[in-house]
Amino acid sequence: MAYDSNNVFAKILRGEIPCKKVYEDEFALAFHDIAPDAPVHVLVVPKIDCVSFDDFSQIASAEFMKEFFSSVQKVAKELGLQENGYRIITNHGPDASQTVHHFHVHILGGKNLGRLLP
Ligand code: 5GP
Repeated sequence: MAYDSNNVFAKILRGEIPCKKVYEDEFALAFHDIAPDAPVHVLVVPKIDCVSFDDFSQIASAEFMKEFFSSVQKVAKELGLQENGYRIITNHGPDASQTVHHFHVHILGGKNLGRLLP
């Protein structure tokens, strides 16, 4: 799938749509999910045009990947999730039900999340 710069996260990154921001650096923007699936549900979005993890892993430099995942860890820490735990999820493609086609990592926490799939 080709990257479409009209996707909702690209618009959020450009400031065209508001978000409840929790963290930003030169590699990533993190904000609360509009329809949370857990008491804490934050999305971390890299500042690079890529459709999904699969795309990101081929496009992004090793340095960018390192910095991006470091940002994910910083966000989880700043959200106070380190001690009790959290889950990170990223969906690639239709079988994973990906709905927004700009790579993003979900951080979920704030309660015991149970097993991976219901
Ligand atoms: P996916 O299904 O692609 O892994 O996750 C997309 C996520 O983006 C969903 O959890 C959905 O609730 C969230 N989302 C969709 N549109 C918006 C929006 O405009 N603002 C925010 N903050 N989250 C959104």
